[in-house]
Amino acid sequence: MTSKILLYYKFQPIADPDAVRLWQRDLCEGLGLTGRIIVSKDGINGTVGGDIRACKTYAKKTKEYFKGIEFKWSEGGAEDFPKLSVKAREEIVSFGAPGELKVDENGVVGGGTHLTPQQVNEFVEANPDVVFFDGRNAREAEIGRFKNAVVPDVETTHDFIKELDSGKYDWMKDKPVISYCTGGIRCEVLSSMMKNRGFEEVYQIDGGIVRYGEAYGNSGLWEGSLYVFDDRMHTEFGAPDDPDYVQLGHCVHCSEPTNQFYNCANEPECRQQYLSCEACREKNPYCATCTAEHKAATASPTSR
Ligand SMILES: [Zn+2]
Ligand SMILES: [Zn+2]
Repeated sequence: MTSKILLYYKFQPIADPDAVRLWQRDLCEGLGLTGRIIVSKDGINGTVGGDIRACKTYAKKTKEYFKGIEFKWSEGGAEDFPKLSVKAREEIVSFGAPGELKVDENGVVGGGTHLTPQQVNEFVEANPDVVFFDGRNAREAEIGRFKNAVVPDVETTHDFIKELDSGKYDWMKDKPVISYCTGGIRCEVLSSMMKNRGFEEVYQIDGGIVRYGEAYGNSGLWEGSLYVFDDRMHTEFGAPDDPDYVQLGHCVHCSEPTNQFYNCANEPECRQQYLSCEACREKNPYCATCTAEHKAATASPTSR
């Protein structure tokens, strides 16, 4: 049995998100698919895995309602997801501003202009003052980003609005800005919020970093690894020994170059993901904060 994973999103007005949630849940249960699906009044965002024929049926049925939705097929299967979760939420990407986003049958209203990977390179060539703006959280950018990108100080997408309103990025408002994120969905929302706040010329990349990396590997404007939300925690666009590959991350303990994130072993109190080299991880499975606290606690047990 061959298995696959489907990744997809579509911005489209949904009159009754809860009805769509129930339909999607029944559809997946009937096909034996597992994964995570979020539905809101603005569309759908999901990742499901299972038997390839089940995935094909799912895609066909889902397309009947979400016309024009694109599915990205990836290696993996139901075993990558412990269960099926189908939820109706306020937003399909959680920016904490469900009232601000405007969506019609063509998708997000007033979002950034879409550029293909090829158009990104042509645009940068013709516009040397262009700014790349990272639409992910700062941790993701530690191991990979576009050359000279501006990386906002955000831990989750919830922090973006406060960050944009802070004035820190006002110098970019009259410059061309290319926003980017992993697969493109976050920038659909982010680019519209930037335009609402006076950023005059905002672009986004079709298919995000994933599609750009597929087109150019390590020989384009991308540097480093791509953070991914599964057990691997990162992926590369070229072979590990590719001479064009740039190692951007550093071990928090010894500063050696690394692109490997780990979960701090002090779970569930600490939910930090931190960069570590293999040697340090074997000696000390804790993040820098927990390591420092542990040292302080053992060095002076009576002075607390
Ligand atoms: Zn180290
Ligand atoms: Zn920790």
